[in-house]
Parts: sequence; C-alpha cells; structure tokens
Amino acid sequence: MAMKTIALACSAFLAAFAGFGAAQADEITDVRFGEHAEYTRIVIETSEPVEFRAFTLSEPAARLVIAFDQASWGVRSLPTAAGRGVGSVGQFQFDDQASASRLVFSLNSPSMVRQTLSLDPNGGGYRTVVDIAPTSEATFQQTSGFPAPTRTLTDLLMEEVGVAYVPPSCEVVRVVIDPGHGGRDPGAVARFGGGHEKDVNLSAGLILRDLLLATGRYEVVMTRDRDVFVELDDRVRIARQADADLFISLHADSAGDNRSPAGATVYSLNPRAVSRARANAIREGDWVDASRPQEVSQILVDMQIANKEGESERFAEALRTEVGRTAPLWRDQPMRANFAVLTDAATPAVLFEMGFLTNRNDARRLNSEREQRRLMQSALAAIESHFARCGGGEPRSRYIADAGANTVASAR
Ligand SMILES: [Zn+2]
Repeated sequence: MAMKTIALACSAFLAAFAGFGAAQADEITDVRFGEHAEYTRIVIETSEPVEFRAFTLSEPAARLVIAFDQASWGVRSLPTAAGRGVGSVGQFQFDDQASASRLVFSLNSPSMVRQTLSLDPNGGGYRTVVDIAPTSEATFQQTSGFPAPTRTLTDLLMEEVGVAYVPPSCEVVRVVIDPGHGGRDPGAVARFGGGHEKDVNLSAGLILRDLLLATGRYEVVMTRDRDVFVELDDRVRIARQADADLFISLHADSAGDNRSPAGATVYSLNPRAVSRARANAIREGDWVDASRPQEVSQILVDMQIANKEGESERFAEALRTEVGRTAPLWRDQPMRANFAVLTDAATPAVLFEMGFLTNRNDARRLNSEREQRRLMQSALAAIESHFARCGGGEPRSRYIADAGANTVASAR
C-alpha cells in the first residue's frame, strides 16, 4: 500500500514536469463549454474522479477559479494548456505552479457560481461541471474571494502542531462606539440648519452608549465623548486596545450639491479593507510566537481575519435589518468599503452612515434628538440580536473610558 502511494506520488510529480504524456490519474482530458440562456456551463473531463472547489475572484481582475486537489493537463487539442471560452467566459489557462492545480478563467462580466456537479463517465471521462450565471457587480463583489479557512484546516493545525483556534468568547460583551470626525474636522457640513456631521455623530453615539449601559449587558468604550479631533489611526488603535467584540463607527453622509440621495447605509469591509486588516495584524506582530512555525502564525492570523470579516458581515446584516424597520435605507443590500477606521486586525467593525445631511428630510431627522434616539434604538436591537448567542449572565455594564479624550490629552 505504501509502495503504491509512493509510486502514484512519483508519477504525479513527473507529470507536472512532463506536461502531458501517457494517461495517468487525475489527468484533465477535455474542457468544453455550453452556452445557455441563463447560464454558461463549463465541463471538465478527467481520467479519475477529482476533488475540486469553484469560486470567483474580483481582484485584480474578474476570474473564475476551479481548484483541484490534484490534476495534470492532458488535453491534446490544447498543448499550451490555454484556450478560449464562450459567453461570459474569456481566456482560460491551466496553472500548475501553485500548491494546488487550478484552471483560471477570465470573466467578461460579473458572474457567480450557480451550481457544481460531479458526474460519472458517460462515454468519456469523469465530469466536473460548473455553471456560472450573470449577477450584479455588487453581488459579484460580495460573493468573490478565496474560500474562508475551513474546519479541516483547524483540525490539521490541531493534529500537526497542537494549536487550536478559538473564536473570541463573548463572556463580557464590549462595544466600541466611534462618533466620526470631531474638533477641527466637522465632517459633512450642515446646509439645512442643525449641527454639522461631527455633532450629529457625537449626539447619536452618546445616546447609543447610554442605551447599551442601561441594559446592564455591555461594556462601552467611546473613541471620543466630546468635540475633539481623533486621528483615524488612533481610532483603530483604540479598537485594538479595547479588545472589543464590536466596533461601530457613526457617520452622516453627504452627496455634495445633489440633494436627492437619502437614507441610511451600513458598510462592512471590502477585500481591500480585509487586506489592510491583515497587514495591520502582521505589522503589529500579532500571534507571532517563537515556539511556532511562521506558517502556523500566519494561518492563525488568517483565521482571526476571517472571523472579523464574517462577524462584521453578520452584524452589518443585523443592523441593516433593524434600521430598515423604522428608517429609510439608501442601499438595502450589503455594502462594503475600504474605510481605514474598520481595519483593526481583530475587531468586527461596521461603518453606519445614518442618512444624508445633504437631503432635507434626512437632515431634519438626523438633527432631531427623538429621531436620533429611534435610530439608536434600532442599533441597540441589532447589537442585542447579534450577541443573543452569548446568553444571559450577570449584569456587567461599565463605561470604561472616553478613549478619544485620553488620546488627545496624551498627544499634547
Ligand atoms: Zn463622516
């Protein structure tokens, strides 16, 4: 048995360098396409059944990737291991240089994987079928990306090096509230009377703080609790030092001279912001442990980032749902952006644009304390539903600090 395994490994090794020779295990023997009204079908034939994953990537260019645990190229009609698709599929290429073998297809328009199938031979080889369908740019952005680390990886880590990744516990729920702008930075400037953005953000933030504390279930950290200027980097640092379970940045939008846009928007992190969070983690030396291989630390960082990304998305969804019950939404769909303030390496984070100060109705709403309270009640409901899994426990509300004021004081 061991001999056979070694022999197979050797033949795969040789095949990787020989290109296409005699038929062997997991050889791709055909790639073909079918154009249908609602989707494009890609069929890959192999000599043996194969394990695969199909996913799209949005950066640096729109692509579909079909990654095989192991495969070699053996399509005789395409000796350069490249070809051309149909419909939304442009050029494709077989890439055997990465740790896994991949077929990479360029996409001419935003698409998503609709279904995948593994079919037994029917006159030819085993068939891997991937159907892709057109989608909106927003959905494409939302559904694209390398698949998140899986449980298998956790198991592997445990077996290999005895390191387990434990998601943050929420025994004590700590929330950082970040009223945007402040001091010499007014944010969006009022044009219908009432306060500038910095005032609206602060007023809403203080209401949310008091609502959270009144439940007896939360600890709260403010990045500022008065009209002071706090650098973006300092806000990120406050999130980091707070070791919090959630970071919520409060803002009011501006559409410049356009008075039409109205309603609230909830942003979580886009792929660039996720990359920045990862870069922050590495720069800060997180999870670096001399007793561990570098790759393990790297994997733990990636798991932490994946958790942050997933929890941010989950909370954004809860907040959008709750706010949508009582207030207009500008975008009732997941929105992602590269906001610096969201890029602490670990804390799930969203940016809440509460409405447009450049819209007459929104401006009236945002400057009304009653309406601010209503909006923050929605935020409280979202936080409560997000942390419902944490269960009850002893009341433990505590107002920890107005970290922003401390920051400014220590910077002087
Ligand atoms: Zn703002």
